[in-house]
Amino acid sequence: MDGKIVIIAEKRREKLHPVTLECIEAAKEISGTGEIIVLVFGDEEEEELAENLLYQDADRVLYMKNSRLSRLESESLLPLIQQTVEAEQPSFLLFGQTDLGKNLAAALSEKINLPLVSNIVEVEKTNALLVTRQILSGNVLEKVETNTPCILSIKQKAWKANNRLQEKKGKLETIHPTVKQPSFSLVRLEKKHTGKEELANAKVIAAAGRGVQNEKGYSLVQELAKTLKGTVGVSRGAVEIGVCDAANQIGQTGETVAPKMYIACGISGAIQHLVGVTAAEMIIAINNDAEAPIFQNADYGIIGDVFEVLPLLKKE
Ligand code: FAD
Repeated sequence: MDGKIVIIAEKRREKLHPVTLECIEAAKEISGTGEIIVLVFGDEEEEELAENLLYQDADRVLYMKNSRLSRLESESLLPLIQQTVEAEQPSFLLFGQTDLGKNLAAALSEKINLPLVSNIVEVEKTNALLVTRQILSGNVLEKVETNTPCILSIKQKAWKANNRLQEKKGKLETIHPTVKQPSFSLVRLEKKHTGKEELANAKVIAAAGRGVQNEKGYSLVQELAKTLKGTVGVSRGAVEIGVCDAANQIGQTGETVAPKMYIACGISGAIQHLVGVTAAEMIIAINNDAEAPIFQNADYGIIGDVFEVLPLLKKE
């Protein structure tokens, strides 16, 4: 099945959202020799972003240029995506499983009456397309065979973005759509430092759980992260005991991360936490309970008290 694919590009902090490049990698597996089209919305500032996508394996970039589109409000985007689907007749429409992607994919599925398969982590090509998706907070992997046309949304970090520029192969088509004043619009965006971006890009994460017990324990995790030139993450357990806020929480309701090394300190390994670290290359767990479930998911385990182990690790 070599179908045409349309990907909806997203921005994060005025840059291309990594999930868009992850979608391109997924699209290459799905489409075979089919055409990969990326749809970019925005104004002057997004032109370079759209142009760059031609060096990232997109066969065509459709750049919808209008000042009303740069804030990516779904009410304005939906009719334009619908028009593109009608004009291009793709086999698959691909979104990232982000707040915007989830919102657009679901609304579009209802609007144009196409099936939606969400939260995809793997694809396999048989005669049809067999996709694996996470359901029930990541507790269950479901395999679904899809027919075309179909809408797919991919879990962030399930594919590895290729950030290296490729040979330019496609072309940029600039379209000037008419966009109605939306019925509500964003008045102001205020930047809040959440640490999410550092977490998403971190190569090393030392994460604190309820087992750190107090601020002294939390500061040992901070020191280890600093020594390893990494970033601090936390579980909900650590947030609940008040040693940190939820900005750096990892898991189902927190961030999804993909570091080379993840050191879980005093974290039990609840599924709602682990779904956020499935893409970590190596998990090291420190826990004083040899039966803690985290050890079943760890590459290395240290059975011990964080107050003894963390200073030793830092020294090493
Ligand atoms: P605990 O489960 O209490 O584990 C603490 C661990 O520390 C224990 O294993 C203990 O043996 C060990 N320990 C204690 N003292 C020491 C010591 N001195 N040295 C070494 N080890 C020690 N959780 C998340 O993290 N992220 C989420 O995004 C998230 N989303 C959720 C969404 C929903 C809908 C629900 C219902 C729950 C969610 N949770 C989430 C909560 C999750 O279920 C767990 O409650 C939470 O992850 C537990 O955090 P913890 O491992 O730090 O604490």
